[in-house]
Amino acid sequence: MAAINSNGFVITTVEELLNWGRRNALWPVTIGLACCAIEMMHTAASRFDLDRLGVIFRASPRQADVLIVAGTVVNKVAPMLKLIWEQMPDPKWCITMGGCASAGGPFPTYATLQGMDRIIPVDVYIPGCPPHPQGLIYGILQLQKKIKEKGVRKYDKAFAQFKEDVQRQG
Ligand code: SF4
Repeated sequence: MAAINSNGFVITTVEELLNWGRRNALWPVTIGLACCAIEMMHTAASRFDLDRLGVIFRASPRQADVLIVAGTVVNKVAPMLKLIWEQMPDPKWCITMGGCASAGGPFPTYATLQGMDRIIPVDVYIPGCPPHPQGLIYGILQLQKKIKEKGVRKYDKAFAQFKEDVQRQG
């Protein structure tokens, strides 16, 4: 936590300063999969204007630190999403937008991934079919709050364990 000392200087840690910058400049990679993506585009456009929150879409995963999975994830596209995630530099975060990306949505079929957290770690799940742009904005604010309170997630070990558990359950 930052504090002001008796000489008027703001005192904080380097980690907190970095996290302040990280949460106020979340840059999602530009990718959309289905109907939820239309609402995501709407959120970025002038009416809701995500730019004012420091959220600016980037065309390359190398320049992005957030993956917003907006739409139905079919099993054929899942490996490509995982590759995009792996191409993003650390620290990075994932938001699933809508029922499909969060848990398969209305498609409990052999062809559809039943939740993005089966292949990569997810930080914020946004319900809805599709969620309203205000829902996505709320999700982004929740992510900012999470970064403020918990800092950068060290999920390597935890996620390796999680993947093992999922594989064991089939
Ligand atoms: Fe489309 Fe609903 Fe799935 Fe979003 S959650 S991609 S709106 S079917």
